[in-house]
Amino acid sequence: MSNNLATPQAVQRLIDEFSRLPGIGPKSASRLTYFLLRGDGQQPRALAEALLQLKDQTRFCSVCFNITDAQADPCPVCADAARNSNLICVVEEPLDVIAIERTRGYKGRYHVLHGALSPVEGVGPEDLKIRELTTRVKTEPIREVILATNISLEGEATAMYIQKQLASFGVKITRLARGLPVGGDLEYADETTLARALEGRNEM
Ligand SMILES: [Zn+2]
Repeated sequence: MSNNLATPQAVQRLIDEFSRLPGIGPKSASRLTYFLLRGDGQQPRALAEALLQLKDQTRFCSVCFNITDAQADPCPVCADAARNSNLICVVEEPLDVIAIERTRGYKGRYHVLHGALSPVEGVGPEDLKIRELTTRVKTEPIREVILATNISLEGEATAMYIQKQLASFGVKITRLARGLPVGGDLEYADETTLARALEGRNEM
């Protein structure tokens, strides 16, 4: 980041940190930083506390790897006996779980991979929670695995890879129906489209 005599170091540091966030360019980063400088002392303090708590008070669920409260492992979905344990929906990111929950049409369980296969970015199978998924399929009473990775090159490659890994386990493997925005993240699909894609899922 360019440094500038008119910018105190502490200000530049926050601008640099904001700039590393997805979707935030240098201009937005400066705007956010100076916004926080202008306000009373409370807002920056509250923001700083929220940031510290983000990691301290959350963890990955040891079953599905979704984000959960540090005190709540397994997460509320995994712990809910009313959810269908024969059905597991595999997604790339925690935000995808939220998107699917919003449809209110899904009552099974989840598995969060934390990414998708991407040779370009150096993401291989061992970087994702795929081995953990295989173990779950072996040990839990799962009858159907819904591969709800994004409709993108990486998402499709990930779905194909997992399908091969699970082929010998005798579970039904399905993929979300077409109609979802190609290249778009699942989290941006509207509820109706996503609900329809889930309902109309096809066997792979
Ligand atoms: Zn869980």
